[in-house]
Amino acid sequence: MNISQLLQRSAQVFGDRPAVLAGAQLLHDYRQLTARVVALAGHLRGSCGVRPGERVAIFSANCPEYLEALHAIHWCGAVSVPVNYKLHARELAHVLADSGARVLCVSAALQADALAAGAEAALLQVLGDAAWQRAAQGQPLAMQERTPDDLASLFYTSGTTGRPKGVMQTHRNLLAMTMAYFTDVDDVHPDDAMVYAAPMSHGAGLYNYAHMLRGARHVVPASGGFDPAELVRLAADVGRLSLFAAPTMVHRLVEHVRATRGDGSGFKTIVYGGGPMYVDDLRRAMDTMGQKFVQIYGQGECPMTITALAREHLADTAHPCWERRIASVGVAHACVEVRVADADDRPVPTGELGEVLVRGDTVMAGYWNNAEASAQTLRGGWLHTGDVGSLDEHGFLTLRDRSKDVIISGGSNIYPREVEEVLLLHPRVREVAVVGQRDADWGEVVVAFLVAEGGEVPDAELDAELDTLCLDHIARFKRPKAYRWVPALPKNSYGKVLKTELRACL
Ligand code: AMP
Repeated sequence: MNISQLLQRSAQVFGDRPAVLAGAQLLHDYRQLTARVVALAGHLRGSCGVRPGERVAIFSANCPEYLEALHAIHWCGAVSVPVNYKLHARELAHVLADSGARVLCVSAALQADALAAGAEAALLQVLGDAAWQRAAQGQPLAMQERTPDDLASLFYTSGTTGRPKGVMQTHRNLLAMTMAYFTDVDDVHPDDAMVYAAPMSHGAGLYNYAHMLRGARHVVPASGGFDPAELVRLAADVGRLSLFAAPTMVHRLVEHVRATRGDGSGFKTIVYGGGPMYVDDLRRAMDTMGQKFVQIYGQGECPMTITALAREHLADTAHPCWERRIASVGVAHACVEVRVADADDRPVPTGELGEVLVRGDTVMAGYWNNAEASAQTLRGGWLHTGDVGSLDEHGFLTLRDRSKDVIISGGSNIYPREVEEVLLLHPRVREVAVVGQRDADWGEVVVAFLVAEGGEVPDAELDAELDTLCLDHIARFKRPKAYRWVPALPKNSYGKVLKTELRACL
């Protein structure tokens, strides 16, 4: 099977239903979209010589042609390499060289960066330019046969540490991930609309498949990204809008809705994940926009499908475990097994911390050209996520931190997330990231980097208040030894805090 069969099926079943919208404006129905994809696939094969199994990269901010490029690549049996468009030319060069992609689909705005990264001008396909439009009307290509274990996509990890590695995602992985959306995240109706507010090269783009399969609408905001005011307008104009958003985006959207006295109407489902959502932010989000939220926990190595915290669980405020549950990442997706294990991969008892391991049809085939890292990460047939967490008696997983982020002070483990949750209780703290600083006496000590609410310049009194707050909530040894106030936290282009950078400046 080729993951493109989803699109082929939708062209038959939902041919005249709206497929792609630029902002609120309809561009193509499913029949038209598929005709363009099939012709573009013919162009990739005929003019660019792309063979099945060959890698073809996409380097662009969100745009309607992104979907065409992605599906044309699958259709002709090639392997998509979605590259984060915020990467530096040097990082793009690494992805191109490592993946061996000859052909690069690029937005006009990023063409110069692509050339600087060493991409060959002749093999640049500029999304939406005149040649692209001609190719989209050209000779069709029959969908190429693929086996479930053939490679569909190479996803380069976001690289909060080290060099990005190419995660090999097969057609089976993508199909299982698509089905998992329906079992564990949300049902999708043809009247629904998926809006791409987060980068299509990452989680948001992966949700296109479930929405393709159900003949829903695909909305690309005119801004090509995340603008809360634009999203609210689209929700009103397009309706039944669903989106995937990082927690920082949810926060900004909620603050905008509150400031404009809105209520979230027009939004159907907001799936959040990719990083920790702090409980206070989540409560505020639900109070403001209602029960529209679903959390997922995944990683490139197991895209979007390790656990999910369903709308029903978030809504079940009367449940005795509700407080704990909303701080968790939910229960294992139906398509995977999840366990928490010790350093020897033995499952730990309920409630105890260990590394999160995953096994199932959505787990990657391995890392591209990196047998050693693949063997290490997939040892024993389980994906070792590098995340530390615990399972409760009902199967809810609570994440603590990346194992690399755990602070060991005086022989005791300190999980930064726990300290961060406490510091965020203070109304004058907007954002926080806790890291370990090397220390001759203790091994490491806790340091908190903080962003003040409203950009105010904090005073020593506030540090003292934070100390008291910590002493009221957590063990004394977990209290930060230093508070560093900064205007903003360093984040990668997906909004994840770069703790390596924070540690480097200590
Ligand atoms: P990436 O491969 O770039 O998507 O990063 C995956 C990592 O992001 C995971 O291994 C987790 O550390 C983190 N992550 C993903 N989803 C969540 C979530 N819902 N809550 C907390 N951390 C998350």
